[in-house]
Amino acid sequence: MMKDNIREILQKALEIGRAEIPKGKVATYIPELGKARADALGLCLSLSDGTVYKVGDTNLRFTIQSISKVISLCKALEVRGTEEVFSVVGMEPSGETFNSIVELDVRSNKPYNPMINSGAITVESTIVDYVSFEELLDYSQKLCNDPGIALNREVYYSELTSCDRNRAIAHLLRSKGIITTNIDTSIELYTKMCSLNVTAEGLANLALVLANHGVNPLTGERLMSPETARIVMSIMLTCGMYDGSGRFAVNVGIPTKSGVGGGLVAAVNREMGIGVYGPALDENGNCIAGCSILEYLSQQLGLHILN
Ligand code: GLU
Repeated sequence: MMKDNIREILQKALEIGRAEIPKGKVATYIPELGKARADALGLCLSLSDGTVYKVGDTNLRFTIQSISKVISLCKALEVRGTEEVFSVVGMEPSGETFNSIVELDVRSNKPYNPMINSGAITVESTIVDYVSFEELLDYSQKLCNDPGIALNREVYYSELTSCDRNRAIAHLLRSKGIITTNIDTSIELYTKMCSLNVTAEGLANLALVLANHGVNPLTGERLMSPETARIVMSIMLTCGMYDGSGRFAVNVGIPTKSGVGGGLVAAVNREMGIGVYGPALDENGNCIAGCSILEYLSQQLGLHILN
């Protein structure tokens, strides 16, 4: 049930988020990302009855980055099945940064989870021979209810020519027999998926489909099984916010995934989808304004999963 003063709450949330921006930094390790406007900020709530609340820069396009890991995981679970996917990737938080390679070599053969780079590249390798990029793009457009999503070529080439670390991860995974398909095609698919241009509004719609257990309530179309939605939301809750996932689960309690482009996608079970855009990131690589915004909304609207 939405509160009467929802618009006031959203404005206040935006102010709280804006105050955090000076403490954050735009990602520059992918050179093109460094061009983002650090002070951009948008928040969108999408409800099952079709109501949409928007404040700030909700229609500004930015690259989805790691949030594409959610989409690829949904597709992989649908196409390859749960058993096949989790035979090559785990479901546990890694305790390391998103692009870490060290734990793979010394602690575990399987990537810890599908929300870190090693796990996501592995997930792409499970579908690369079954699903084309065009099909994944179409799936992303449907999930986000946004036919305008397209590949951002500048960001794609910027990352493809600077992703030595991801290539190193992929080579290590192949040496361990976890990746058995062509490395270059898996890296290309992963990097293309990270380079899709989305909006905060589109992310709110993606979250709404997950929160609604796989059906887009606006069109009635089922886009994944309820089991896939449950698995993906569970992994977002435990591993979606990099090294800040534990604290975020305590303080906010909403399955959420972030991307270094500044996006956040947050699925409030059975209730709504939330999308945030703000490219200034905290030390864990999460949208700094978005974390405070979601904490405030969780308190004000009673959205914590254990409420
Ligand atoms: N494309 C980015 C990378 O592989 C995604 C990272 C992220 O958003 O966490 O480094």
